[in-house]
Amino acid sequence: MGDTDAALRAEALERLLVEKGLIDPAHLDGIIEMFNTRVGPMNGARVVARAWRDPVFRQSLLHDGSSAIASYGFEGGQVDKLVVVENTPDVHNVVVCTLCSCYPWALLGLPPKWYKDPAYRSRIVREPRVVLREFGLAIAPQREIRVWDSSAEIRYMVLPMMPDRLRDADDATLLDAVSRDAMIGVQELT
Ligand code: FE
Repeated sequence: MGDTDAALRAEALERLLVEKGLIDPAHLDGIIEMFNTRVGPMNGARVVARAWRDPVFRQSLLHDGSSAIASYGFEGGQVDKLVVVENTPDVHNVVVCTLCSCYPWALLGLPPKWYKDPAYRSRIVREPRVVLREFGLAIAPQREIRVWDSSAEIRYMVLPMMPDRLRDADDATLLDAVSRDAMIGVQELT
């Protein structure tokens, strides 16, 4: 089904549900606005940038992700239990949901298409080095790759390494540098 088909079907469904009085169009608009403007990778980027700057926050984030981000009040759900895994020179982390497409919505928004693709979901576990290479990411052979399988209970996010060039960067530059793909673990920041 192409994107246009999907859009037409969505519109048809919406009309039907509104007609039957099952949904309130204003409520639906609210949900769409939330995902367009308030839920997305910019939330994850705020958390990452703060962890880079603030060692105490970083420790608490790695210790108990859910508690560490509670004060942000992010919307979008799907992070009842958040586990943040840290990339280091020795370890690279990457996130998948082998069963379906569990994903930390509140931090990263809606998952990209490839994240839901059965090929990604099975191959990243079997041959992570090869798959990461296809994303343009070459992980040195001596560096360990850890693959984290999300579930309805646990959502993972990667804390990328901060590139040296950002050492003295201001907040806006830091936020801009943190990509969605780096927080899934299929990209490294340079
Ligand atoms: Fe899932």
